Order: sequence, then structure tokens, then C-alpha cells
Amino acid sequence: MSAPVLSQPDERGVVLFKCPGCGYCHGVWTNPAKPNEMTGSHWRWNGDRVRPTFEPSILATGEHRCHSYVRDGQIQFLSDCSHEMAGKTVELPVFSLA
Ligand SMILES: [Zn+2]
Repeated sequence: MSAPVLSQPDERGVVLFKCPGCGYCHGVWTNPAKPNEMTGSHWRWNGDRVRPTFEPSILATGEHRCHSYVRDGQIQFLSDCSHEMAGKTVELPVFSLA
């Protein structure tokens, strides 16, 4: 696999990936100087759009609870996710805006 699983970073350093668990796109704020405007959160990123690693874990709440680690291009869903991928680790899909 050599195709990016992340969007290009936008002007805030936010990258997006399509989540195979909840089906939504998750945004990851990667610039410590420009954290998430609502939560103040940001993540360390290895800078790789093909095999990304983020720390710490990513938690999304809303229609679904979706809690994951993204490491080396794989997404590990923690057991507290509300969707059926809870507890599983899978490859991230190639990113597209469609
Ligand atoms: Zn998700």
C-alpha cells in the first residue's frame, strides 16, 4: 500500500481520515500551536499520510462513541466503542473526499 489514508493537512494542520468503524471522517489536529478550537486538543503525528501514527488515542462522541488508536496505518478500536468494530484492528482505507 502506498496510497494516502489521510487528507492533506489544511492551514490549521488538521488531517482527516475515513473511519471504518463509525463511517464518519475524523479530524486530527496536528499543530500544537493551533489545537482544536472547541476542545484544545491536539495529537502528535509521525507526518506520514500512508502509514500514520497519532498519539494519544482519538475519541469521538455523538451518534456513535468511537475510540481508537491509529498506529502505522492501522486503526485499533477500543472496547468502549458503540459500533460493531469495537475491539478490532484494521487497515485504514485509502482517503478520498467522496
Ligand atoms: Zn470512528
